[in-house]
Amino acid sequence: MVRLLQYADIIVDISSEHLDKTYQYSIPEELKPVAMIGAPVIIPFGKGNRTIKGYIVSLSDEPKINVQFIKPIVAIEEKGIRIESQLIALAYYIKEQFGGTMNDALRTVIPVKKSVKHIEKRRVVLAVTKEEAHQLLATALKKSHKAKARLLQELIEKVEIDYELVIGKLNISRSTIESLIKDGAIKLQSETMYRNPISIDPSRKKTISLNEEQQTAVNTILKDYNEGIRKTYLIHGKTGSGKTEVYLDIIEGIIASGKQVIMLIPEIALTYQTVMRFYARFGERISIINSRLSQGERYDQSLRAKNGEVDIIIGPRSALFTPFKNLGLVIIDEEHEASYKSEMPPKYHAREVAIKRAELSGASVILGSATPSLESYTKAMNGEFGLFQLNQRAKEAKLPMVHIIDLREELRNKNKSMFSNLLRELIEDRLIKGQQTMLFINRRGYAGFVSCRSCGHVLKCPHCDISLTSHNNGSLKCHYCGYEEVMPKLCPSCGSKYIAAFGTGTQKVEEMVKKEFPTARILRMDADTTRQKNSHEEILATFASGEADILIGTQMIVKGHDFSGVTLVGILAADMSLYAGDYRASERTFQLLAQAAGRAGRGELPGEVVIQTYQPEHYSIVSAATEDYMTFYEKEMSYRKLLKYPPAAHILVALLLSKEEERVKRASDLFAGVAKMYLDANLAALGLSEEERGRDIQTSIIGPTDASLAKANDIYRRVIYFKYESYDSLVLLKDFLEGYIETSEHFENIAVQFDFDPMSSY
Ligand code: ADP
Ligand code: ZN
Ligand code: ZN
Repeated sequence: MVRLLQYADIIVDISSEHLDKTYQYSIPEELKPVAMIGAPVIIPFGKGNRTIKGYIVSLSDEPKINVQFIKPIVAIEEKGIRIESQLIALAYYIKEQFGGTMNDALRTVIPVKKSVKHIEKRRVVLAVTKEEAHQLLATALKKSHKAKARLLQELIEKVEIDYELVIGKLNISRSTIESLIKDGAIKLQSETMYRNPISIDPSRKKTISLNEEQQTAVNTILKDYNEGIRKTYLIHGKTGSGKTEVYLDIIEGIIASGKQVIMLIPEIALTYQTVMRFYARFGERISIINSRLSQGERYDQSLRAKNGEVDIIIGPRSALFTPFKNLGLVIIDEEHEASYKSEMPPKYHAREVAIKRAELSGASVILGSATPSLESYTKAMNGEFGLFQLNQRAKEAKLPMVHIIDLREELRNKNKSMFSNLLRELIEDRLIKGQQTMLFINRRGYAGFVSCRSCGHVLKCPHCDISLTSHNNGSLKCHYCGYEEVMPKLCPSCGSKYIAAFGTGTQKVEEMVKKEFPTARILRMDADTTRQKNSHEEILATFASGEADILIGTQMIVKGHDFSGVTLVGILAADMSLYAGDYRASERTFQLLAQAAGRAGRGELPGEVVIQTYQPEHYSIVSAATEDYMTFYEKEMSYRKLLKYPPAAHILVALLLSKEEERVKRASDLFAGVAKMYLDANLAALGLSEEERGRDIQTSIIGPTDASLAKANDIYRRVIYFKYESYDSLVLLKDFLEGYIETSEHFENIAVQFDFDPMSSY
């Protein structure tokens, strides 16, 4: 029997400044069965007991004030689930499943209220004829006024464009716009003025007819939807197989039935090119969220969504909480991306939360990726998710030819440079032909792992099968168990002296490219060159327009860009991410390489890919080269099953933070101790034998140990890992530990963060 609780904490002003302001009320007997978190209630308020509306945000049996002052709830509205109720229920789910406080969860879900002056929506339009615009464009190009030219070019094609889009996504400054207005070339129009009903030049609307694989996905999903079936689908489509076209058709079907759509795209892939594809199809009915928007602008966006002014919202993780009243579908593109996991508490994963939100609002979910996460693919294999495969590249383009180069072999042939002979030849060939090259440096995770350049041997922890990381003091450490050893002088495997911490920066690569190919025009894209607002987009636009021959970059350059001039992709140190020091390293390597390789040959010309590696036989590299997901999946799953890593089992990380080193050490020891006691008691309750328990406990608690980042900003960091087969058991353990923290005096001034199935290493 479900225990019905006595008291409810109620929030009366649902806006983030007042989220922590709750009032406790008692729940009359007859209302108890319907008093759920998120439920809208009517309560007496203030001295005069006027009745107002509120929402239940938590339930308990403990009065916070003298019971005689606690008033009863008058009524609970049951008709029609409001969006506020849904979001509060979603916050509760996040708090329960991922840890943290209800307050943090509510703050994640409810947009910050900021009063913004109502800004009129403005658009930029041509003030001259198309012929004149073409002349102006020619002049701008001659004077190499790039920004002006870009805007004119776009306006010639699209007639008019949203002002915000021009500033935000086209990277046109306000002064460029003003100067063009002064020239009489363009003008600004506001909402109230006459509006051209056709905002997109119809001749631009490409009529693409879907291929059979694409059409099957669209038809099946829409048919399900119209029959009232709500579920989660995974679209596994190779790079360039036309997933976005599938999304577009499905979205059209969903909004035609009066519902709304949330489309999540990792911010890095949310480029002008991508956004324009959606605009071209849905025009005004779209709103876009990105991190460049101010809080006020974001709030404005969510109001527009709530008022039904838009049907589709596109944005990164946080767009998931858009308060649509009639949500029909959530799409998560590139669902394997680590950016869908929040790095701040509550450390929720957008995929799980999207599925919950869909359940609360009667919507479906589509996950899409060329390299699905093992989690999603496993669910698709189990039949929990519907699965669609898109195996062909949509356009005529063929999959690229891939060469795997063994760098140990290069060294044996006395080639110590970072370019293999083949890659050097191919770059030269492309320079002569005037085709473009992308050079990708795999720098994900740590650059600190230690390997032998002669035999490729990597130093690993004897207990964890995870690479050791070199520390400045000359020692090697395991981030999982704390194992430590001295950095050897010679390779323990072959005795070579070419053993060292690995690390190649983009800057160094740029220098080398300049030296080897002095005539090449080079662009570099990494954290340094994209620090400035919009520079990311600027670099991509420059490369797309053919103003450079070689683009050098980190994983930033592999996402969602469709450069038709690129016929060569070079991956310099493909195995780098294999040693990131966490159990997802192989998966991430496979994803990065498959995505990078997928950048080549997207246009008419066939593509070639060179993968340089010290581990040419590693399964994640071999299967990425052929985009052979199934082989990768099976190998990797057997490894996860063997070592009990997600999704074969689950991991809960507790990160303890404190300014006092001693305190956090003691607290983490205590923490591990009580967790062990709790697990012992529970396993005993499950009827396991002493021996089974012993074994299970051993695999269940790892640590405490210093985090790999043991101290940051004068805050000491300790971690404990709990491994367990059932997620629900870990949730119960987390609940228990949260309760323990609240009552223990050893946890003053110590922050504890939980993370389930971590996407990054600690
Ligand atoms: P993905 O999202 O899977 O990487 P896209 O949807 O971006 O793939 O498609 C890749 C390219 O192929 C795009 O330029 C797109 O316009 C084109 N395309 C997609 N589907 C078709 C089709 N059925 N016929 C012709 N071109 C297509
Ligand atoms: Zn270890
Ligand atoms: Zn060696």
